Amino acid sequence: ERERLSRLRHTPAVTLDGQSIRLLANIERPGDCEAAMRGGAAGVGLFRTEFLFMGRAGKMPDEDEQYASYLEALDGMKGAPVTIRTIDIGADKPLDKGHREQSVLNPALGLRSIRWSLADASMFRTQLRAILRAARHGPVHLLFPMLSGVGEIRQTLAQLDLARAELDTRGVAYGTLKIGAMIEVPAAALMVRSFLKHLDYVSIGTNDLVQYTLAIDRADEAVAHLYDPMHPAVLRLIADVIAAANEAGKEVSVCGETAGDVTMTRLLLGLGLRCFSMHPAQILAVKQEILRADAAKLTEWAQTVLDSDDPQSLCAAAA
Ligand code: PEP
Ligand code: MG
Repeated sequence: ERERLSRLRHTPAVTLDGQSIRLLANIERPGDCEAAMRGGAAGVGLFRTEFLFMGRAGKMPDEDEQYASYLEALDGMKGAPVTIRTIDIGADKPLDKGHREQSVLNPALGLRSIRWSLADASMFRTQLRAILRAARHGPVHLLFPMLSGVGEIRQTLAQLDLARAELDTRGVAYGTLKIGAMIEVPAAALMVRSFLKHLDYVSIGTNDLVQYTLAIDRADEAVAHLYDPMHPAVLRLIADVIAAANEAGKEVSVCGETAGDVTMTRLLLGLGLRCFSMHPAQILAVKQEILRADAAKLTEWAQTVLDSDDPQSLCAAAA
């Protein structure tokens, strides 16, 4: 099976009815680009940069060290776009053992991700400057995690402007980039039309969207059986975000585990998704599903799935 799939590596990801689909890789370190290229990824849809910061006893990589890592990722992708997500520390991704989130009551609802970045603006701008500088050398899409409101987008974009101004003052060159947000908090999904006015694209983080929509801690074994990416409420949010972005003519991807789940590929295609980002090991299996799918025919079926109380069995029956 693995060998058969590997033959699909250079096959374009196009549906039976001629829809081109972008299949991107999620990476945690620049070194993962090799696996992404092996999987035939058309780019990186999610570089989880927090991994550059973790396990260093609180000593952050400085601007030059980060810049070198981002350049390495761009090099590794040989000119294909790299989506660099700003640090998403906290909850399931602690900075260090013993870091404060271990002692707060609800780390997933606490000072994590973009909230943490905005609370430590100088650390945040160091990262933004490194990303801006890297953007001179290849196509960079900047991605902000866990935004929950337009006010937060404004604060974030203000930090980006400041980071540019700091580089101007130093006389350091930087590039242009596309700016997007993760949609992974229900509030963001519900307000996506407002979000899109400020952004070039959005990327749906289903791992957190499921956690926050269903009130299921994604890291708690005791409730793991209730963690359901096909819950009708989750599907409705995903469907609405895809529809809103398509209507606005802006790119939308899914970069949570759902994107690499072959039992969800047809449904996501039917909902209008044309860009999937996943673990490199999943890309060829998802491509195989795409090659067998007729996207236009799936549109109506996907609406039936959305209206059903039991999407899981409908998807299983259609497989
Ligand atoms: C997500 O939440 O779906 C996501 C892609 O981000 P992470 O898994 O890194 O939280
Ligand atoms: Mg997330």
